[in-house]
Amino acid sequence: MDISLDLAGRRVLVFGGALAARRVLARFLAAEAIVYLASVTVDGHPQERPHPQVRPVEYPHFPHGWRDLVSAVDLVVLVEVSESTERIIVDACAAQRVWLSREPAASVAPLGRVTLVGGGPGDDGLLTMAGVQALRDADIVFYDKLSPHGRLDEWCPGAEHVDVGKTPGHHATPQADIERMLVDSALAGLTVVRLKGGDPFVFGRGGEEVLACREAGVPVTVISGVTSAISVPAAAGIPVTHRELSRVFTVLSGHAPLSENELAHLAGLGGTIVVLMGVGTLPHLTAGLARHGMRTDMPVAIIEQGFSSRQRTTKARLDTITPLAAKLGARSPAVLVIGEVVRLSQHDDAASEELLQAIAGNAEHALNAEH
Ligand code: SAH
Repeated sequence: MDISLDLAGRRVLVFGGALAARRVLARFLAAEAIVYLASVTVDGHPQERPHPQVRPVEYPHFPHGWRDLVSAVDLVVLVEVSESTERIIVDACAAQRVWLSREPAASVAPLGRVTLVGGGPGDDGLLTMAGVQALRDADIVFYDKLSPHGRLDEWCPGAEHVDVGKTPGHHATPQADIERMLVDSALAGLTVVRLKGGDPFVFGRGGEEVLACREAGVPVTVISGVTSAISVPAAAGIPVTHRELSRVFTVLSGHAPLSENELAHLAGLGGTIVVLMGVGTLPHLTAGLARHGMRTDMPVAIIEQGFSSRQRTTKARLDTITPLAAKLGARSPAVLVIGEVVRLSQHDDAASEELLQAIAGNAEHALNAEH
């Protein structure tokens, strides 16, 4: 069941310690509700101060006081109460016909934790359920430009959102600073999410962030994401492997030019080559592969801004893609695909039809041979 309620101006009464209920309180404040907090001092827990906009209320001193308390609000939320108190509140809400909901308590451990979340290639639908849950639990989110950050207000309205990616005219936050912010936030007791584009471990510097956390003694986990290396070609209808056509795919960063040795091996490997961050080094790569024996009519595709309304696929051959890309002004972010599988992309010409028929013919041939 997925219900959304407009809580603006509604009175919401939360039961629980200010620290354990901090995310719930922040979420209701973000929804512009009038938020009340009823908390008792639990032994061993310091009594924390809630957000200044949260209005503290006292536990009733008399049994009938509970009914008066809950009937004064629109929604009661249980985060952290004793079993006996919970029974009283549940009965009072039922008697007064007041909505009641239960929300999980946030960690009150003095040490927080960091979760690296792979956000996928930018489409909300390709963020994992584990990723959404981690965002929901976060106190603070550090996100990149290529991550699906457009709906953070909806996924984690109670959390602080920090943009650490490049925006036009501004430089990205240096990696060392990002690592320090992650570690410092977790050491301050916060539940931290680092939201990245694609998969955190594919050219995402996720490994460095994990090491920084481990070195600082901060618990860290990684939630894999859908990498652009596979999903962006797929968005253009290109499978990175295909029976009879490609049984190897190599993913490389085009950030820096490959060495002659690397080019020679790559050209000799066969299969599909997928390049991220490769627009700038495209001329060097295509010339290098041709020099090392790759067929000059090898199909090549450039898919820019995958999964956005501006997604564009440009197809050519190894020897024609560079001038064409220059002419069309191909720009980052883009994924390059080099290999026969490019022929399988959507909106293709007669050549792909021919090829598909050849593959189908081969498969049929193989089947007949079995019989
Ligand atoms: N960790 C990411 C890659 C980070 S490197 C992942 O697994 O996808 C950044 C590069 O990824 C970009 O330069 C581009 O080559 C590619 N990329 C990411 N998202 C993309 C998208 N929506 N469309 C096209 N390319 C994308």
